Amino acid sequence: MDRGGNPRVVVVGAGFGGLWAVRTLAKKPCDVMVIDRNNYHTFLALLYQVAAAELEAEDIAYPVRSIFRNLSTVDFTLAHARRIDVEKRVVETDNQVFPYDYLVLATGSVSHSFGIQGVEAHAFFLKTLEEGVALKNHIICCFERAARQTDKSGDAGVLTFVIVGGGATGVEYAGALSELIHGPMVNDYRNIDFRSVRIILLEGTDSLVGGMPPSIRSYTAERLGKMGVEVRLHTKVVEVTPESVILDGDETISTRTVVWTAGVRGEPLASLSGILAGSDGRVPVLPTLQIPAHPEIYVV
Ligand SMILES: Cc1cc2nc3c(=O)[nH]c(=O)nc-3n(C[C@H](O)[C@H](O)[C@H](O)COP(=O)(O)OP(=O)(O)OC[C@H]3O[C@@H](n4cnc5c(N)ncnc54)[C@H](O)[C@@H]3O)c2cc1C
Repeated sequence: MDRGGNPRVVVVGAGFGGLWAVRTLAKKPCDVMVIDRNNYHTFLALLYQVAAAELEAEDIAYPVRSIFRNLSTVDFTLAHARRIDVEKRVVETDNQVFPYDYLVLATGSVSHSFGIQGVEAHAFFLKTLEEGVALKNHIICCFERAARQTDKSGDAGVLTFVIVGGGATGVEYAGALSELIHGPMVNDYRNIDFRSVRIILLEGTDSLVGGMPPSIRSYTAERLGKMGVEVRLHTKVVEVTPESVILDGDETISTRTVVWTAGVRGEPLASLSGILAGSDGRVPVLPTLQIPAHPEIYVV
């Protein structure tokens, strides 16, 4: 789009950060190109409900093009940004190169395994729509598998669900999973002994939802306990295998389901492009969100 000398602004990421920037930029004299690897915006705050079969995927995915339909200076391209050439001022993607005068990097975060063995290979994550749907399908498959076993003592781990990380996402998912299992599942799988189902929430520190006031932290643990969730504090995972999770102190829990909600790191696009970033992928910015070395780049 060339509207006669207007600055070209490229926004990478149509999450909450990118959309908010576009909302403001659409009122300014500039041409905006939004790039996202998906052509939908994911309302991440409700992702745990998709993974617990409370919502359908399409309930939290909004077509980006329809969001921008009435914004005449805003265009969209479905592409995965691979690298930014900060000297040439271009964004290189898997299908096209986009020159910019100003760049807004709003690529969000990715799950962080902290290098713990087996997490990347065997754990489930809860950061994208695909991951939410995959987790839901896996949970249902576990119940199907348990329902068809003739020897019910054969595979206890199949109905043990371990969530690692007692922050907001882990807590929300543990609660939603309990509602799913002790609600609709009880009616649908009448030959399963639901007393054998375990939902275990592991947290490395001394409380759930750290950062919240103490009364909320203790209420959260108490409430989850009443919902049948086993909350284990001061518990660190050292390895995840296809059939177990191994804890610090050598305890092994048999499970086919480890949901990793233990932390996030910055999406690696900035660090892959030579932009200064910390070990957790976060980019240091000025209060204006500009990068000191490249004030034409803003990072959300
Ligand atoms: C399960 C869950 C529940 C949450 N609940 C809440 C809540 O209740 N309240 C709350 O305030 N926050 C909640 N959050 C946090 C909130 O979702 C995030 O803070 C918010 O999404 C961050 O917005 P963002 O725009 O920075 O990143 P994102 O929303 O992650 O958007 C990043 C966008 O960039 C795109 N992208 C990334 N890399 C590339 C690339 N290389 N090329 C092209 N496109 C790319 C992605 O596809 C995505 O569309 C929750 C998060 C999760 C995971």
